[in-house]
Amino acid sequence: MGKEIDLKKVLQQQLEVDEFFAGDFGLKGKSAPELVESPGDAQTGKSLKELADEINKCCKCGLGETRTHGVPGEGNPDARIVFVGEAPGADENAQGRPFVGRSGKLLTKIINAMGLERKDVFICNILKCRPPGNRDPKPEEIVQCEPYLNAQLALIRPEIIIALGAHAAKTLLQTTQAIGRLRGRFHDYYFSPDEEPVKLMATYHPSYLLRSYSPDNRRRVWEDMQKVLAELGMEVPTPSKK
Ligand code: URA
Repeated sequence: MGKEIDLKKVLQQQLEVDEFFAGDFGLKGKSAPELVESPGDAQTGKSLKELADEINKCCKCGLGETRTHGVPGEGNPDARIVFVGEAPGADENAQGRPFVGRSGKLLTKIINAMGLERKDVFICNILKCRPPGNRDPKPEEIVQCEPYLNAQLALIRPEIIIALGAHAAKTLLQTTQAIGRLRGRFHDYYFSPDEEPVKLMATYHPSYLLRSYSPDNRRRVWEDMQKVLAELGMEVPTPSKK
């Protein structure tokens, strides 16, 4: 009985997601995501590929012992936008790719609604290995893993970082403020103390959006993405009328 109700809810949400992000705002029929290998960067030392190899062998915290695959991240090494989530879940751990489960499908729809494809952006997480049972990342795990993310961002040098959810936003901005306060506006992210910052937009995590699937929350995320597109001088896709 309980399961039937859940299934209905899931199907209803899926329909609403399709309508909201593909029917009303986005572009339909986008192709499947592709992994784009990093060509490397002579000036910054390690390439994205070398970082990924290191991540896949990493045992700096206990998560290295329980993972099936590390999940370094994937996408365009020259991306203008990098999405940063929290940590891999079960699907990501099984495949070694970020955001391929349910919340990943919603993230893909959001990216498509922005007029982009997954291969246009770079997608990664704060933690590169799955915390068992999808528990929250522990501070000591974040401390060990964060240098990988910082190195990835320093190599890619995106124009905008989108922090998905509280863990990503708090870690990247070194703050304890709640995501509800952080989202919806640009913050500064510093690759290093002596460099100009890049802009960071904080928004809700797709899995929060799936859990709290209200029109208001959907509108808020879409408004955050519109601000990112405007900042980059990119066209905001117009609603496609059915
Ligand atoms: N949630 C995340 O934060 N990252 C993933 O890769 C998948 C789900």
